[in-house]
Amino acid sequence: MAEIIDGRAVARELDQQTQEIVQSLVAEGHAPPGLAVVLVGNDPASEIYVGHKTKACERLGLASFEHRLAETTSEGALLALIGELNDRDEVDGILVQVPLPDHIDEARVLEAIDPAKDVDGFHPVNVGRVSAGTGGIRPCTPAGVVMLIKSVERDIAGLDAVVIGRSNIVGKPVATLLLAEGCTVTVTHSKTRDLAAKCARADILVAAVGKPELVRGDWVKPGAIVIDVGINRTQGGEGKGRLLGDVAFDEVQHARAVTPVPGGVGPMTIAMLLHNTAQAARTFASGGEGG
Ligand code: NDP
Repeated sequence: MAEIIDGRAVARELDQQTQEIVQSLVAEGHAPPGLAVVLVGNDPASEIYVGHKTKACERLGLASFEHRLAETTSEGALLALIGELNDRDEVDGILVQVPLPDHIDEARVLEAIDPAKDVDGFHPVNVGRVSAGTGGIRPCTPAGVVMLIKSVERDIAGLDAVVIGRSNIVGKPVATLLLAEGCTVTVTHSKTRDLAAKCARADILVAAVGKPELVRGDWVKPGAIVIDVGINRTQGGEGKGRLLGDVAFDEVQHARAVTPVPGGVGPMTIAMLLHNTAQAARTFASGGEGG
């Protein structure tokens, strides 16, 4: 039987490290790290995520500042708010919940965030620094994926890793981080030929696709570490939805370890966000430029 990687337990360990940073800052007389979350419009999924983030801040002793703006908010007004948050000392991290309404240019908004406060790690400056290996804030879900892999195998240098998905928010940065760990990385996507055979060579397989149970048992090498990033909501019986990952979980029991959905990658994302915020605050407190 494959080991089931307990994302909630690994997230709690990270929370503990975050709490230690928060407590040491407060003990030194600094304000607690502050996270500003900006939500434009009433997307129900985004409302839930923002609620979770605010609660997690309270739990770990971070200050949270919620900015809920109307769907009709102009791009100019949003950029002005980001400018204010960039200037406010009590704000160490800024998160703009995506998707944004269609009339707002998402890239322009994300690029307006001070890179030192870009705790989502999406700003091109952070993408570039992480890619060049010169620091930068690492994006939350990909950094969480690597932490889960390393909870199973501390030294992954030299292992063959296959990433399914090449999005800017998951697939590409996961590949970048695994390359930095010394893995030999293959990035696959919808145009990849013979995907199953490529996956079957992987010591580490990361699926970030958004297709329920795309990865079947015979795609997975015995002894592989399998990380399932996918979150797919399906219609269950009696109108009850159910969450499925990108991996057919029951078919991969010959793997060394596999993440469940839910309870695998999901809990790592918020934990990493708060960790990035606490680290940004630590860098500001030390007189650095953040990140
Ligand atoms: P995107 O839709 O942006 O990217 C999906 C990627 O999968 C694309 O690169 C696409 O290829 C590739 N793809 C699609 N179909 C296939 C196929 N049949 N075979 C191989 N590759 C394929 O999704 P995201 O990266 O944003 O998210 C991926 C999944 O992860 C989603 O289920 C999302 O909900 C989940 N997610 C979970 C998070 C968490 O906290 N647990 C956080 C973020 C995302 P191409 O580029 O060629 O189109």
